[in-house]
Amino acid sequence: MTADAKRIAVLGSTGSIGEQTLEMVRAHPDRLQVVALAAGHNAARITAQAAEFGVGVLGLADEAGARGLRVPGARVFAGAEGICELVRAAEPDLVIGAISGVAGLRPLLVALEAGVDCALANKEPLVAAGGIVTEAARQSGATLLPIDSEISAIFQCLRGEQASEVEMIMLTASGGPFSRLSAEELAGVTPERALDHPTWKMGRKVTIDSATLANKGFEVFEVRWMFDVDVRRIEVVVHHQSIIHSMVQFQDGAVIAQMGPPDMRMPIAFALFYPERVANDLPRLSLAEVGSLTFAEPDTDRFPCLRLAFSAARAGRSYPAVLNAADEVAVGLFLDGRIGFTRIPELIERALTEHQAFEVHALDDVEEADRWARDYVRGLV
Ligand code: NDP
Repeated sequence: MTADAKRIAVLGSTGSIGEQTLEMVRAHPDRLQVVALAAGHNAARITAQAAEFGVGVLGLADEAGARGLRVPGARVFAGAEGICELVRAAEPDLVIGAISGVAGLRPLLVALEAGVDCALANKEPLVAAGGIVTEAARQSGATLLPIDSEISAIFQCLRGEQASEVEMIMLTASGGPFSRLSAEELAGVTPERALDHPTWKMGRKVTIDSATLANKGFEVFEVRWMFDVDVRRIEVVVHHQSIIHSMVQFQDGAVIAQMGPPDMRMPIAFALFYPERVANDLPRLSLAEVGSLTFAEPDTDRFPCLRLAFSAARAGRSYPAVLNAADEVAVGLFLDGRIGFTRIPELIERALTEHQAFEVHALDDVEEADRWARDYVRGLV
């Protein structure tokens, strides 16, 4: 490692994005130094990561697990508040936001308020509290970089372009594993089947969100907040091959697309080294092997989560926080075998319909809407 290696804190280090981030560190040890690791429960894995990368600042949301960590010389932080403390203590150059769910919101705000740049895979904070997150970055001057492949694609398409000349953002969607199932067949989908995504190997929650298209709806919020784009300028197109990661159409009719193999390590590396493009050994795209690229309209009758996300994004106020929390609870209930697959959008829709919306000025407002939605959805089942 050289003296000018970028010091990174990986939040959610034991998950799919966290592990792939560490793989990039392994490939570029002279350019990247891990200064802090944080996760939820997986004490064994974070201990092994700390040993491999020589990390002295560790945190687990699970307090008992944190107390049990035995890493010589390391400072250990426990609980949700502890992970916020860890961000302050580690003084990284870049935070990798790879926690799953809205649990990533508070540490993200701590980093942004301290003026630390953040590379974000964790999309739920932008769904629930996009205005608060972007305002924190604006005030401190910290940069928010996308890791999510579609959002990274748009970021790359916009490089060197004028925001005022953008006409439309075209988000591509793989369509999920069930894009060809009928409404009746969808009702019978089991958690095991839903966890088997055809293209991406991801965490459990985002895999289910991909299958319901809630994930694509969440990306609408990422685009809206990361690039300050009106929701009416965002559309979704189903593209099963996941080769075009998204597109931007400009006011002269030109469309710029970003392509690549479906491999999260590429957008992760782009964010880690931004603004540089650093050479790597990752597999390259062969369009001849792919053969053809197809595109279709999403079916929001069979996949209502996408429609619900668009309407919550348009309605604003506390609706997005309700959408996010209702989805987190509904996905948890589905994974626990307590509700069927098609109940996920039903529960979210009921929460959005019954919610008495209010203005969101601060984190407390987001947390109030979040709590209400969680209690409401749990009460329905
Ligand atoms: P995983 O479920 O694989 O990993 C989640 C990580 O977050 C784990 O390290 C987990 O720790 C940690 N974690 C969970 N709860 C908490 C908590 N309360 N406090 C601190 N850490 C916590 O998810 P992914 O890596 O797949 O996804 C992470 C985020 O990135 C999600 O928001 C997802 O939507 C987004 N994303 C993921 C993509 C992918 O390809 N995987 C693509 C684009 C976006 P532990 O396991 O130890 O409990």
